[in-house]
Amino acid sequence: MRTKNEAINWINKSVGKQFDFDKCYGYQCYDYANAYFYYMTGLVLHGLYAKNIATDNAKTLASIATVYDNTPEFLPQAGDIVVFNGCYGNGAGHVAVVTQATLDSFEVVEQNWFGGGFVNGAPGWEAATRRWHYYDNPMTFIRLHYAEKKSFRNLIPASAPKAIKRKIVLVAGHGYNDPGAIGNGTNERDFIRKYIVPNVAKYLRTAGHDVYVYGGSTMNQDMYQDTAYGQQVGNRRDYGLYWVKNVQKPDAIIEFHLDAAGASANGGHVIISGQFKADTIDNTIQSVIKSNVGQIRGVTGRNDLLNANVSAEINVNYRLAELGFITNQKDMDYIKKNYDRYAKDIAGAIHGKPIGGVAAGQKQVQQTVWNWGGIFYPNTAIKVRRLPGLAGEVVDEASWLYSKDDWVKFDQIIKKDGYWWIRFKYQAPGASKKNFYCAVCKITDKDEKIKNEKYWGSIEWA
Ligand SMILES: [Zn+2]
Repeated sequence: MRTKNEAINWINKSVGKQFDFDKCYGYQCYDYANAYFYYMTGLVLHGLYAKNIATDNAKTLASIATVYDNTPEFLPQAGDIVVFNGCYGNGAGHVAVVTQATLDSFEVVEQNWFGGGFVNGAPGWEAATRRWHYYDNPMTFIRLHYAEKKSFRNLIPASAPKAIKRKIVLVAGHGYNDPGAIGNGTNERDFIRKYIVPNVAKYLRTAGHDVYVYGGSTMNQDMYQDTAYGQQVGNRRDYGLYWVKNVQKPDAIIEFHLDAAGASANGGHVIISGQFKADTIDNTIQSVIKSNVGQIRGVTGRNDLLNANVSAEINVNYRLAELGFITNQKDMDYIKKNYDRYAKDIAGAIHGKPIGGVAAGQKQVQQTVWNWGGIFYPNTAIKVRRLPGLAGEVVDEASWLYSKDDWVKFDQIIKKDGYWWIRFKYQAPGASKKNFYCAVCKITDKDEKIKNEKYWGSIEWA
C-alpha cells in the first residue's frame, strides 16, 4: 500500500491521460479505477460491472480499505473511490476517484463519463477528466488504508497485467437425433444453435478470445452422446469432452441448455460438478441469468450428469448453463426478443467484463426522429399541427388533410405520444413555406417500426 500523498500525486498527474488497464474496449471508467487501485495496492479489482465493485471485491477490500455508504453527513476525501449505482452506465454503474468534496457535491477524476472511451470499435477520445458530481443514492465510497510512511515501491510491479486471451469452448446442448426439450414452438437443440451459441461466440471473439464451437460452425454433434460413446468403447481420449480436453486444451467450457418442466417453472441456473466449487465464470453467468430471466436456483453442484462428472474426472473448467425454461412462455418470449443482448451478457460474464464497453454518464436516449422522406396520401380527415405531438397547436380546420388530393411531401418522421408524425410542407402554390405536422397512424407494432403500420392513407417512401 502506498501513502495518501502518493495517491493524490498520482490522481493529479493522471488528468488528461488515457488508461486502458485491461487492454480491452479502450478507456473505460473501470480501467481508470483499476489503474489507480493497482498503483496504490498492487492488486486488481475484478468484476463485470462498476456498480458492483465493492461487493465483487468485498474479500480483497475487507483487509485494505473501508467501504462507506453515502449518507447526508458523509464527507468524501481525496483518494476515495466512488461507485455510482446502476442508473448510470446503462445499468453497469460508474466509478471515479474523488479529489475534493463538500456535503452538496464532489469533484472526481474519471474516464468515459460521456461514452467516449471506446468509439467505433477503437479506443476513443475521452481521457481522465476532472469533473463535479452530485450525490445520488445508493452510492459507495471506498477509502484505502493508506501506508503511514513512504512505501517500498519495489514491492509493487511497475506495469499492469496484460490482457488475458483465453481458449474458450462453447457447446450447444443435445444434437443428432436428440432435440432436447420441446416447448413454445421450438426445441432446445435448434434454438440454442441458432440464437445463443453463435452470438456468444461472436462477442467473445470481439473481445479477443480464441473460441471453438463444439462440432464446428454447424454444431452438428452432440457432446453428450460423443462422451458417452467414448466411455462405451473404452476410449477416454478421442470423443466428446475427452476430445475437447486433449485437442482444444480449453481454459473454459460452457455448455448451453434450456430447461423443461410444467408451464409455471421459470428462470435459469448454472450447473457444475459436485466435486468443484463455483468459480468466477460460474457465478457471473449465474448473475447474468438472474438479471435476464431470473433464477430458479443458485449455482448447483451435481453428480448425476455425464459431462459434469467427466469434467471432474479429467479436471477441466466446465459448466452447463440452463438459460431458462423452454416450457415457460415468459422465459421464451423474453429470450426470443432479447437473445442478442442475453448472449452478449453471457459473453461478458465469461470475459470478465461487459463486451463493447458502456457509456457512463449518459442515460440512454432513444431515437425519436428520422430524416425519412416520401409522399403521404391521406384517406380520412387528419388534423394538422404546428408542432408534432398531441400538444402541438392545431391549424384551422380548412387546412387539415382530408383525401388523396391533399397529398403532401414529407422529409421527416417523428415518434411521439403513441403516434407516428410526418413533417411536411403544403404543396399548393402560394401556401405557407413553413413546416407542418400530422399523425399518419397510431403506433401498434410491437417493434414500433413505422413500415409495419397501417396508415390513414398511403405512403410512397422516397
Ligand atoms: Zn438440455
